[in-house]
Amino acid sequence: MNILVVEDERNLADAIVHILEGASYHAEACYDGRAGLRAALAGGYDAVVLDIMLPGMDGLEVVHELRRHGSSVPVLLLTARTATQDKVEGLDSGADDYMTKPFEAPELLARLRALTRRKGDVMLDEVSFADIRLDLATHDLSCGDSSVHLSGKEFEVMNILMSSSARVVSKQDLLSRVWGASEASENSVEAYVSFLRKKLAHIGSKVQITTLRMLGYRLEVFAD
Ligand code: CA
Repeated sequence: MNILVVEDERNLADAIVHILEGASYHAEACYDGRAGLRAALAGGYDAVVLDIMLPGMDGLEVVHELRRHGSSVPVLLLTARTATQDKVEGLDSGADDYMTKPFEAPELLARLRALTRRKGDVMLDEVSFADIRLDLATHDLSCGDSSVHLSGKEFEVMNILMSSSARVVSKQDLLSRVWGASEASENSVEAYVSFLRKKLAHIGSKVQITTLRMLGYRLEVFAD
């Protein structure tokens, strides 16, 4: 499940991305209306979380343009305003639901579940890469008949690496997506990558987490 977040307050945008990733969604943020519209029109998203008050092009215009271009992607509008007129305008412009800021993470997730259910999609229940599978519900990492349970942070790091296929993921990216605004340092990332390497070896996978100096990590498949 791939979610686009369009919100110009970077802290809030990044917090929403973090909440979504914690719930095993893939999420990407755009920080202004035009970039958000371009990304949403490019497709590949199962839902868009869209702020109304945006620089350049506001959220109502974005959703209007999306519908005008034939996109039916579900849109959840965020608004700091509680005026009935904004909600009516939002829904009239083609949004599917709206949520007033500030909101709690469970409400955001519940509304997105409802929106994506309406679209008839089935939640992705596992990700796979080469000979390994990661169960998004149980957090078990498997290779053939062997499996091992991943702790919360191990799961999040592995989910990001596997979802990125063979692309390089930087330490800084892992740090901000898994640890958010906490006090963690790049040492934490290294420690968890080291735990994951041991677990990959334990289940007998040919997948290895390769370190690319100054760049980050990438999954690679090694032959015997
Ligand atoms: Ca805003």
